[in-house]
Amino acid sequence: MTETTELSPYAVQRVRHPLNVRRLRVQEVIRASPHLVRVRLCGDNMQDFTSASFDDHLKLLLPPDPDAPLVLPQPGTEGLAFPPDAPRPVMRDYTPRWFDSARGLLDLEFALHGEGVAAKWAVQARPGQEVGVGGPRGSFVVPTGFDWHLLVGDETALPAIARRVEELPAGVQAFVIAETADPGDRRALHSHADLAVQWLSGGADGGLAAAVAAWQKPEGEGYAWAAGEAAEMGALRRVLVEQHGVVKERMRVAAYWKRGASAHHENL
Ligand SMILES: Cc1cc2nc3c(=O)[nH]c(=O)nc-3n(C[C@H](O)[C@H](O)[C@H](O)COP(=O)(O)OP(=O)(O)OC[C@H]3O[C@@H](n4cnc5c(N)ncnc54)[C@H](O)[C@@H]3O)c2cc1C
Repeated sequence: MTETTELSPYAVQRVRHPLNVRRLRVQEVIRASPHLVRVRLCGDNMQDFTSASFDDHLKLLLPPDPDAPLVLPQPGTEGLAFPPDAPRPVMRDYTPRWFDSARGLLDLEFALHGEGVAAKWAVQARPGQEVGVGGPRGSFVVPTGFDWHLLVGDETALPAIARRVEELPAGVQAFVIAETADPGDRRALHSHADLAVQWLSGGADGGLAAAVAAWQKPEGEGYAWAAGEAAEMGALRRVLVEQHGVVKERMRVAAYWKRGASAHHENL
């Protein structure tokens, strides 16, 4: 089901997908940089897997400890139904970085931030292990035809940002402002768009919000997308509104995590 919020070529579309929970197997693990692991999952149940937007997320379902059996819930009339008397999997949000439904492949990228079930699972991930994947349940589809696209975020947003710039066409401008605590985690970004990338180191003065404040907003129609830590994203949203005059229909700012909280997700 598709819902359009604005009648214009710049209208964002919200698409709903049927909820599926799949059991997938780790096929390959690549330590791409000091704090980034790319995990390729595979399964013969991926034919109808879809992800319409770089902004999508899925629920990754992990056993409470990596070698414990994985008991998965099933979609029911009221969301996920968990079998009684079985340990519940841990659920965390991740971006479908790349997928090939026909070949049954799905790549996820994990920021290794140290704490947390998912970050610890990614450190030890090895071929043959099983995980569950729920969704994506819906997609927030931002048109690619804006004159400019601003993409801002930390390590957790980089999978979405990397996917987005790969999807953008020639003839549009893309500005990426990205922060990694370790400069070793900076990565090459590939795009047909006219791409300008600014890397920040963690702890830089004012961080992402200050860098966005200093950014020169171009003329024309544009869209701003940002994701990262909750407080930092709150400050960044204020800069977009108060300094750059970006209206809510032209931005998506999300807290992908919150200092001191587990599994936090909020669209600001
Ligand atoms: C829509 C969406 C898409 C996302 N996509 C990705 C993705 O593709 N790749 C990715 O790596 N992450 C992604 N995230 C972020 C990821 O879901 C969170 O970082 C999540 O908290 C990780 O779970 P965990 O079990 O490792 O830690 P949790 O158990 O959730 O948290 C444990 C502790 O670690 C802290 N913490 C969590 N994340 C970080 C961090 N990045 N840096 C420092 N401290 C942290 C928490 O504040 C908490 O104190 C996404 C989040 C959302 C909402």
